[in-house]
Amino acid sequence: MTPQLNKNIVPVSEVFFSYQGEGIYAGIPQIFVRFAGCNLRCNYCDTPKSLMVSSAVKYFTPQALSEYVFDVYTKNKKMFFGFKPSVSFTGGEPLVYADFLKELITKYLRNKISVYMETNGSLSKEIKKVCKYCDVVAMDIKFQSACRKDLFKQHKEFLKICKNKAFIKTVITKDTTKQEFIKAVNLVSEISKKIKFVIQPAGFDRIINKKVFEFYSTAANKLDDVRILPQLHKLWKII
Ligand code: SF4
Repeated sequence: MTPQLNKNIVPVSEVFFSYQGEGIYAGIPQIFVRFAGCNLRCNYCDTPKSLMVSSAVKYFTPQALSEYVFDVYTKNKKMFFGFKPSVSFTGGEPLVYADFLKELITKYLRNKISVYMETNGSLSKEIKKVCKYCDVVAMDIKFQSACRKDLFKQHKEFLKICKNKAFIKTVITKDTTKQEFIKAVNLVSEISKKIKFVIQPAGFDRIINKKVFEFYSTAANKLDDVRILPQLHKLWKII
């Protein structure tokens, strides 16, 4: 795991206003906090600059980060229209800094801004510390074909903790196997068929398209709400 240098000071790559580009909340305005450091190395990672702690542009205390978030929000307030302000913690992997997040949310953000946790879904002890303070947990199920680790045990523990707040995202590459996809669908259906499940193509070539539509049928036969959604920010070319 990426070492946490000091639980009260954490490395951040960027804080910015944009629109959510993935999952069931795609298109909503948010303030994004991208932490530096991740415990995984997925082969399709689209934020390689955030994998290492050394990629941090700035280090923040909880109070300083909350002030920065509200400053970015104030500057972009008119872009939220009727939407409740929302902060997306992303990375890297934000839960590497769970103790910091707990203090940040409980002391400075709670009841003022919605908390959207974007996570690789592998750190169950960490989500336990902050789950009750999150409004949404956008949880990935990572496949061994992409991250060279079998994380299903960790994913199951993780989802049991945050099942009422979570939706699932699976990234489909040309290497994703039907076997591992079925395992992911079964994992979710055993916890709750009502958990929303997003199939996210990692590209639009013929092989991926074929898999995505085939996998949709597999998932929709077992779960109540399955959607195929691409990453909008790649179409917008903002990363
Ligand atoms: S978990 Fe996310 S940030 Fe970490 S390597 Fe995978 S895709 Fe990249």
